[in-house]
Amino acid sequence: MADDLSVVNGARVSFAKHKAEMDDSDAGLIRFLMRERHGTPFEHNSFRFHIRTPIFVAREWFRHRIGSFNEFSMRYAKATDDFYVPEPEDVRGQVGKPGAYSFETVEPEVAEATRKELKAVYEAAYSAYERLVEQGVARELARAVLPVGAYTEFYWTVNARALMNFLSLRNSETAQREIRRYAEACEQFLAERMPVTYTAFLANDRIAP
Ligand SMILES: Cc1cc2nc3c(=O)[nH]c(=O)nc-3n(C[C@H](O)[C@H](O)[C@H](O)COP(=O)(O)OP(=O)(O)OC[C@H]3O[C@@H](n4cnc5c(N)ncnc54)[C@H](O)[C@@H]3O)c2cc1C
Repeated sequence: MADDLSVVNGARVSFAKHKAEMDDSDAGLIRFLMRERHGTPFEHNSFRFHIRTPIFVAREWFRHRIGSFNEFSMRYAKATDDFYVPEPEDVRGQVGKPGAYSFETVEPEVAEATRKELKAVYEAAYSAYERLVEQGVARELARAVLPVGAYTEFYWTVNARALMNFLSLRNSETAQREIRRYAEACEQFLAERMPVTYTAFLANDRIAP
């Protein structure tokens, strides 16, 4: 539900003007708005994503307040036994100080041991969850045994301005790898639906207006 023209018309209404098609002057206007950080014309559109992700990624995502969320409820529905196990190459070590960590490849045995530990914990946690639910414990309480590697799902509706802020922060080297992968995917939709805005965003060093 997004296109470049919505930015142009959002800005041109200041002069009681409306365009039905983009031309070169409109592309120039978008570049100007981006560069000068006139952000509000980028708000007259929306993207709706249906995301399935581990809870620890969702927690980072929900910090982005400008946007709307609706999430799967473990009060009303039974939790699934779907948990995040990183691929061996995604198991990494952490070196350095807060604010300047680097994440380095670990030995293959460490990667395998990590995956094994995670799987064992997930299995034990989900078994405990099922036992509690079977004994009549409310799902809203039984879920307390589940780890943050459990998958959740949600809808996220966001305008291009807030999406660019998200991309700037989360499709970045400093973001956690797992959320970054999702941000990379979201970025493709911005590039597809609002190509002029996207090009201007890149030219502006990925700073959201
Ligand atoms: C690498 C990284 C590390 C992080 N580490 C931590 C951490 O250790 N602890 C932690 O708590 N969080 C952490 N965060 C989360 C971070 O502090 C933000 O909460 C999150 O990135 C959302 O950013 P935002 O506020 O710009 O986004 P949104 O909430 O979507 O807001 C978008 C923009 O709207 C404006 N805005 C929104 N709400 C307000 C407001 N109340 N007042 C004024 N302006 C507002 C701001 O301009 C803001 O940039 C981290 C984020 C990143 C990317």
